Amino acid sequence: MRCPPRLLINTPDVELWPADLLRARGNRDARALAQARWLLRRKRDGRYLAAAQDRGLVPLLPRWTAGIDAEAALDALDRAPRTGGQGLAPAAPLPLHRIEARLQALGLRAEDYAQRTGLALVPEPAWLAFAGHDRYRRPLWLQADTARAWHRLRAAARADGIALDAISGYRSHDYQLGIFERKRARGLSVEAILAVNAAPGFSEHHSGRALDIGAPGEPPAEASFERTAAFAWLRERAAGHGFVMSYPADNPHGIVYEPWHWRHDGAAA
Ligand SMILES: [Zn+2]
Repeated sequence: MRCPPRLLINTPDVELWPADLLRARGNRDARALAQARWLLRRKRDGRYLAAAQDRGLVPLLPRWTAGIDAEAALDALDRAPRTGGQGLAPAAPLPLHRIEARLQALGLRAEDYAQRTGLALVPEPAWLAFAGHDRYRRPLWLQADTARAWHRLRAAARADGIALDAISGYRSHDYQLGIFERKRARGLSVEAILAVNAAPGFSEHHSGRALDIGAPGEPPAEASFERTAAFAWLRERAAGHGFVMSYPADNPHGIVYEPWHWRHDGAAA
C-alpha cells in the first residue's frame, strides 16, 4: 500500500501542516500535536491555531474559535490528493486579489512594479509536497514534480561526487510581506527594500518551483557560490533535469546576479 503524500495544504489565511512535521511550542502543543494528523497554522504570523483531531478541532490559541478561514482550510484538505507518486496532478493556483490589496496598503503599485521589472505576480499553489528538509532542518515544500526533479538532480550530482543542499524552497506571500514590513518598520524606504528584495508577491519562491541551492560549508545565497564545484556542475547538468538559473548576471529584471537561485520549468526530465 502506498502512503498518502505528505502535503502542506494552502489557503489564503491558514496552512494545514502534517502534525508530525511541526515542533511543539509548549506542553499543551505537544499533547495536542501527538494526537493530531493536521495542524492549522495562521500564515500572517505563524501562530498555531488548532490541532485537527478525530474528535474535531482542538484550539491551541487562547480564545480562538473556528471561523470561515478554518472552514476554508478543512475544505481544502477534503479536496487535496489522497495518493502520491507520479500521478500527482499539479496544484491549482490560489487567487491573487489578497496580495494585490496588501501591496496597495503598503503603498506599492503592483502594476508599476511589474512594468518596471518585467516580473509578474506569482500565485501560491493550493498545496505543496514535502521534499525533505533544507540545510537548516526546516521542512522543504515544493510542487510535487519539482520535488521529484530536485531529488533526481541531487542524486545525479552525488553520483558525480558533488553535494548539493536546499537553502529555501516555497515561501508564502505572507512570509515575504513580513520581511518587507519589518524593514519598513526599521525605517527603510520602499525603494531601498526593493533594491535587495523582490516585492512581496513577485518572488518565484511563491510558486513552489524555485529553489535556492547551496554547497555544504559554503555561505548561503552569496555570489561566491559561483566559484564552487557545485555551481560548475549545475551549469553543466541542471538544464538536463529541467532547472534554469532565473537571475543570471545583467538579467532584464534588474535583479542582482543570483547563481544559487534555480527554477524548475519541467521541460527536461
Ligand atoms: Zn531564491
